[in-house]
Amino acid sequence: MAKTTLYQEGSMQMLQEKLLEGTITVKELMEHGNYGIGTGQGINGELIILDGTAYHIPSQSKPTIADPEMTVPFANVHQGDFHFFGTYQDINVSELLRDVKQKIRGGNYFFSVLIKGHFKDVKTRSADGAKKPYPSLSKIAEGQHEFEKEDVDGQFIAYHAPKVFQGVTVAGFHGHFIDDAHDMGGHALSANIDKANVYVQKIDYFEEHLPLDNDDFVKANLEKLDDLNSAIEKAEG
Ligand SMILES: [Zn+2]
Repeated sequence: MAKTTLYQEGSMQMLQEKLLEGTITVKELMEHGNYGIGTGQGINGELIILDGTAYHIPSQSKPTIADPEMTVPFANVHQGDFHFFGTYQDINVSELLRDVKQKIRGGNYFFSVLIKGHFKDVKTRSADGAKKPYPSLSKIAEGQHEFEKEDVDGQFIAYHAPKVFQGVTVAGFHGHFIDDAHDMGGHALSANIDKANVYVQKIDYFEEHLPLDNDDFVKANLEKLDDLNSAIEKAEG
């Protein structure tokens, strides 16, 4: 079976340390995969990439096709080769993801879960985005918008990272959603499934790009790790 690589731009620690400058364009990002999630420069909206199309979900308007030149400080992408896992009914997405993780014994490795179907309700969020000098994520979170929709068809993609990768990325699950009508989406806060098909792809390799040509990154002090775990749990919970 072909091996799968998860490509990551930047790190969660960098976002926590206000390094929010876009360091890769959407076009460049998609050379590394046709499925993924991410956020725009300054946390300007959320990104979801499905079957080779990148959607940008701004905080103040509906999702659009992402500008290929849009820059991104953080993203995860991979080349999609999902395998059908099963059909789920009447289940909360968190429970579903836990069930998948348990059945594939996935706790110690990266994998992606793609959920396509009908959702009873979905709650997402997206932030306004800030300009340089960038504020903290908690400051940006104050200006984030939450969206809720009931009775909606859509797609949800999540990545699972082993616990030891907390700070490099988000340990556990990190999922984004977009509805089929491209009416709403973003970073998924909660979702209840009516009926959906679930696809899983296990990931063998993890590749991370750190932006050596970005001065702010090079000069930042990224050696203090004490508060990182709690900060990420707060921001991504
Ligand atoms: Zn997210």
